[in-house]
Amino acid sequence: MEKQTKNKKNIAEPSCDDPHCPFHGKLSARGRTFQGVVIKKFPKRLTIQFERTIYLKKYERYMKKKSKLHARISKCMEDKIDLGDYIQIQECRPLSKIIHFVVIKLIRKKEEKGK
Ligand SMILES: [Zn+2]
Repeated sequence: MEKQTKNKKNIAEPSCDDPHCPFHGKLSARGRTFQGVVIKKFPKRLTIQFERTIYLKKYERYMKKKSKLHARISKCMEDKIDLGDYIQIQECRPLSKIIHFVVIKLIRKKEEKGK
């Protein structure tokens, strides 16, 4: 399920000089993808949380488990993503001790309340 991003589909995307940007830099994103909600945001880094269902063989039941992952966010994506947004991240080479994922897509913004 690998998609080559040779063709620049998003012309409106601002370019950046971030070497760890999956679109403009040399960082290649490959491997597993996860989707989750942004729970923490730092400069160039964020944390997402998502729920997984794990099958327990002993009890023949599924269990919900929450996982957190740290991901690198590139300069061109940084402005678009806020806390509570639902995003997609993809595995890349380890960028630090805890970061081996990079943000590749904003799926939907945080749902507005009180309308
Ligand atoms: Zn970029």
